Amino acid sequence: MINPMDYMSDADWHRFLAFSQNLETPCIVLNLDSIKTNYLNLKALFPASPIYYAVKANPEPAVLNLLAGLGSHFDIASRPELDRILDLPVSPERISYGNTIKKAKDIAYFYERGVRLFATDSKDDLKNLAAFAPGSQVYVRLLMENSITADWPLSRKFGCHPDMAYDLLVLARDLGLVPYGISFHVGSQQRDIGQWDDALTKTRYLFSSLEEEENIRLGMINMGGGFPAAYIQPCHELNEYAAEIHRYLSDDFGEEQPLILLEPGRSLVGNSGILIAEVVLISRKNNTALNRWIYLDTGKFNGLIETMDESIKYPIVSSKDLPGGKEAEVIIAGPTCDSMDILYENYKYRLPVDLKSGDRLYFLSAGAYTASYASVGFNGFPPIRTYLLS
Ligand SMILES: *Cc1c(COP(=O)(O)O)cnc(C)c1O
Repeated sequence: MINPMDYMSDADWHRFLAFSQNLETPCIVLNLDSIKTNYLNLKALFPASPIYYAVKANPEPAVLNLLAGLGSHFDIASRPELDRILDLPVSPERISYGNTIKKAKDIAYFYERGVRLFATDSKDDLKNLAAFAPGSQVYVRLLMENSITADWPLSRKFGCHPDMAYDLLVLARDLGLVPYGISFHVGSQQRDIGQWDDALTKTRYLFSSLEEEENIRLGMINMGGGFPAAYIQPCHELNEYAAEIHRYLSDDFGEEQPLILLEPGRSLVGNSGILIAEVVLISRKNNTALNRWIYLDTGKFNGLIETMDESIKYPIVSSKDLPGGKEAEVIIAGPTCDSMDILYENYKYRLPVDLKSGDRLYFLSAGAYTASYASVGFNGFPPIRTYLLS
């Protein structure tokens, strides 16, 4: 049995229960206070670093509004995301176009609206940047291969080898752009802090060699995201990440530290949300089967996509949980007519034996990569709704 008080205060849990009692399921309840706490906590641990919130983690307008008001910067991946942010009182200097995969006309659109900071990892994209965002600051994303310790790796698809990063930064200068820095993403929900060490070592090498051989002085490192939210698998506290990373930075760069940008998504919003699902049906596949199948009113297509490969294991609390109550292993699945819509089968959650249809399951730490990762209406199920805890 999961104790919700391992994940939030007693007061927050009871406030949530009272607020959500009569809400239609499935839904997500967001606690904006915890996002504010997370932001201020991260800011205190990295006082010199602008925080670029990775909007894709949760683009809920109230979240963007809150973070804009706190002075956050934003990591943006598309034109609609940009429009949303520029509708707030946020100036384009607080925006980074962090997607390395972009159309030329999207680059032009960002440039026209005043954005001057762009990520890249390829020659073709760099040439488009030179043509449609002339004179802008560019940073090159490094390929990260050791992402097995991340629960949601972002490897392979993004970034380039350091040798190529070197060439791209030289080319950026030659094309009239400003070669500004290096970025990396060590993988989302990265539980191995040492991954930042490896990435920073490669980065240090690029800073030195570009300065010595090409007289290019980079000024910035964008450390991406990767800081964890609290799921079932234990991980270090954020202050341990910060202490280690500061140590790597001073080992590698000494007194002359470049500007460090952070791009958190999951660690800012993950623990702010609770997803509520209702049990639709409980069944067994044969008369003597040991495991029950628990079918919910939401699943992979409607908020719980990160259960893919059982990658993210949410802490699950049921409305029947009782200390000392009898529990048994279950398989948990969603409501759609697709057999991919099984959430957990290998990893065995234990739920009360007296669980019935109509009871509720609470997926804790469901504030990141849930609501906006839902399908438009697969099998007719509408996208999951978000409510703000009040
Ligand atoms: C998704 C993403 C992030 C956020 O990563 P988290 O692990 O959720 O903190 C940061 N930077 C980029 C470029 C991303 O694509």
